[in-house]
Amino acid sequence: MKEECTESFLSSEQNEGYEFFSYIESGSESKIKEFLKSEPHIWEYKDENNDNSTVLHIAVFKKSYEITEIIIEYCSSFQKEYEFINFINCQNDKGVTALHYASFSGNIKIIDLLIKNKAELNATTKRGLNIIHYSAQGNKPNSLMYFYLKKEDRNCIKELIKGKDDGGSTPLHWAAYSNGEDVLMYLINLNIFHDENERQNYIDKQDNQGYTPLHLSVSCKSRRIVMKLLQSGANAEIKDNKKRTPLDLANSKGYREIVEILNNHKKCQICNFKAPVKQIKKSKKNIILVFFFQAITGVILYFSVIPIALHSDNNENNNFNIYCFFIFVGLLLLFFIIYITLLIKNPGEITKNNEDTIKVLLKKEINEDKKEKGDLDLAKYCYKCFVEKTKDSKHCIVCEKCYEDFDHHCYWINKCVAKKNYYFFILFLFITFFYLSSLLFLCIKGIINYYKDEKKYCFYLFSFGINASKEEFSSVFGEYFHLILIILLLLINAAFLLPETLLLFLHLNVCFSNLKAKKKKGRKSSISMKLIDNSVGSDYNN
Ligand SMILES: [Zn+2]
Ligand SMILES: [Zn+2]
Repeated sequence: MKEECTESFLSSEQNEGYEFFSYIESGSESKIKEFLKSEPHIWEYKDENNDNSTVLHIAVFKKSYEITEIIIEYCSSFQKEYEFINFINCQNDKGVTALHYASFSGNIKIIDLLIKNKAELNATTKRGLNIIHYSAQGNKPNSLMYFYLKKEDRNCIKELIKGKDDGGSTPLHWAAYSNGEDVLMYLINLNIFHDENERQNYIDKQDNQGYTPLHLSVSCKSRRIVMKLLQSGANAEIKDNKKRTPLDLANSKGYREIVEILNNHKKCQICNFKAPVKQIKKSKKNIILVFFFQAITGVILYFSVIPIALHSDNNENNNFNIYCFFIFVGLLLLFFIIYITLLIKNPGEITKNNEDTIKVLLKKEINEDKKEKGDLDLAKYCYKCFVEKTKDSKHCIVCEKCYEDFDHHCYWINKCVAKKNYYFFILFLFITFFYLSSLLFLCIKGIINYYKDEKKYCFYLFSFGINASKEEFSSVFGEYFHLILIILLLLINAAFLLPETLLLFLHLNVCFSNLKAKKKKGRKSSISMKLIDNSVGSDYNN
């Protein structure tokens, strides 16, 4: 396939050639049509300033569908079939084909045109980069998904996606290296791996220098890509050929923000105020924990806290104690009702689409009026649910769904907090705060009462009003048994109350200052043509 174009380039024709290149540069269709009337051999023209690229390369690189079409039509009518196929697949000095450039720019109308005219999918440049490497460099999910969804070439494309260039870099390496977050997420989540293991190996693949995509994202200081890779389960312990982990690299470069992320990755996050930086699967662990502690709390409450804290020989105090008791039980019930409702309630997920939706979008884009500039950008679609992202929607990596007005994923309800349960969640935080505070009050009152010289304790609930002497009460388990239980409950309670209060204030703050408007995606695209034909990581080998 790698047929080099004819080198013959007569000096008399050179001027004409440059004239033609300048028409492509300026995008003037009329002049091009006029020029072609004299039937020149435009397929022989080479642009010496651009690695001897052909007119087709330049037209595709300029993303001009119309001019590309004119050139292709013209050449197909003048050339024999094999000559024409060679022209379509012609490589410039760096071995780049027109399809490579089209893939880089993500213009699927041009890609489709080239493919229909027999452009080779598995062409590689002199450094071994295939078309998927180029779509990764350009951060263009459009071209990636166009190729991926070509059913008849599915196996070939799968190989290209997993393919390595001469430096051993996969398209994922290139996406990480080029700050190509969109294409990176599509690549990781494509349905091309046999199992989770194979996907994991792809994410952690090392190039010839031993770099994983995570190493590259660290070296390029791409904070977001580092996060995305870690959240997708990238292994941060892999060492490159010089025995450096991604953390070592970040430390040696002095990238403090990234050092922090990589360090946090190791820590267990309890309160989850920030997005987690590791892969997390849905788990009912925390829900079970809540019910478990509530059960322990209930037992300690019934046998120790309530009899001691809410006991009094004095009638006036007794009324106060009964109020306390009913307020507490009311809060406890409310807590459970709201908690269970939160567990059941749908947070407002957006219904998932499948790959066919993307297929339809691509088809529509390809068949659109030629004059219309393609504005399909798959970067605006969720890489997993294939739904169009809105300003406030977000994909939850734990639930693997998109949510309207996404706030955060709450591990205590094993669900997202989003549009439909946000205010309910705030209410839950309030009730929990009052419930835990009342529990704290009871514990402290219990400890105080224990040291008061009072003779009798009173069992409430099933044995409402039955009194027992202090001696009778503590005779079974020893004098300090109930006190220890109360202190234990106090500590458990405090462990929940502190982060809960913090969370409540955080959310109230967000509510009042209207900061619910999501943090803007502050990412810059650092894509430039200079990237092409470098090896991944060639500029940070030290
Ligand atoms: Zn999604
Ligand atoms: Zn979630």
